[in-house]
Amino acid sequence: MKLPFLPTTGVGSFPKPDYVTGAKGDLDENSREATREFIKRQEDLGIDVLVDGEFYRGDMATDYYRALGLPIADWTRSYDNRFWKKGIVDRPLRRTAPIQLYQFEFAQGLTERPVKAILTGPTTLANWGFNSHYESREDLVFSWAEIVREEAMDLVKAGAKYVQVDEPAVAERYWETDLFREGLRRVTERLGVYTITHVCYGEFPLVYPNMPKLPVDQIDIELASELDLGSERSTLLQMMKKDPLTKYKDVAVGVIDVRPGVGVEDIGTVKKRIETALEVLAPTDEASKRIWIDPDCGFRTTKNREISYRKMEVMMEAVRQIRSR
Ligand SMILES: [Zn+2]
Repeated sequence: MKLPFLPTTGVGSFPKPDYVTGAKGDLDENSREATREFIKRQEDLGIDVLVDGEFYRGDMATDYYRALGLPIADWTRSYDNRFWKKGIVDRPLRRTAPIQLYQFEFAQGLTERPVKAILTGPTTLANWGFNSHYESREDLVFSWAEIVREEAMDLVKAGAKYVQVDEPAVAERYWETDLFREGLRRVTERLGVYTITHVCYGEFPLVYPNMPKLPVDQIDIELASELDLGSERSTLLQMMKKDPLTKYKDVAVGVIDVRPGVGVEDIGTVKKRIETALEVLAPTDEASKRIWIDPDCGFRTTKNREISYRKMEVMMEAVRQIRSR
C-alpha cells in the first residue's frame, strides 16, 4: 500500500462500549460488534493503518498469562490507585495455542486497509507479572521473547504487514535497556514485515540515546505534552533536535493527549504540535517522510468514546491541512 505524506495510525486500544463487559482476551460477539464499528469509523476518518481497538482485551499482560494457562494472582496494587490481577510464571513458558491471532484475522477481514498486529513485548510481560520459576531476569525476558516471537510469526503468516510490539514498561526500568533491546530483537529479527515499538511514559531523556539501536523500523512515542513545551524548554526535544531519530528510524509522533479529563484539542494546537515535531525531528524533506502521526497512546485511558472520536477527527483534519500545504 502506498502511504501518503505523514501517514496516520492509532496506537491500539479504544474505550469499550457499555455492552462489552468482562473481556478476558477472547473475541466474543460483543467485542466483534465493537470492532466492526471501530474499523468502519477509522476508514471513514481516512486513517491509513488501522488498529482493532482491543475490545477483547482484559489486560495487555495478564491475557498472555491466561492464554498460556498460568495461574493468576488476586488483585495487586501497581501505582497510584491502579489495581490489576497479575499472572504468575511458576513453570517453563510454553505456547500451545495462538494468543491473539484470531482477533487479528477478524479485524483484518473487515477492511481493505492494513490493520496493525499489536503484541505485548517480552520486557513488559516479564515486568507486569510475578515469577517464581526462572532464576534470572534474562531467562524470564528471553523466554517471553520466544512466546511473543512465535505469535508474531503466526500473525505474519496470517497476513500482518505491520507488527507493533508494545513496551510501555521500558522507560520504567531504563537501566535495563540492553536486556530490553535483546528481548525485542529476538521477537522482530527477520520477521520480514514492518516492525514498530510503542513506548510511553517514564524518563524518556534517559532512554532516548538508546532508541537509534532498537531493532525495529519505527519507534512510536508519546510526545504531545513535550511538543507543547516546545524545543526551548523540553530537554527531550533538544536531544531530538541535536540527533534526530529520523536519521535511524521512522518515528510515529503522538500528537493527541489521551489522558482522562483532557478535553478535545483544537486544530490549531494539533497543527502546532505536528509543525514542532517536523522542525525538531525532520531537518530535511527526506527526514520528514519518516514521520507518522498518531495519538500519544491507546484511547482506552480517555474512557470516553465520543471525546476519543472527536480527538481522532481533529488529528486527521490537522494532518490534512498540513499535507495540502
Ligand atoms: Zn502507551
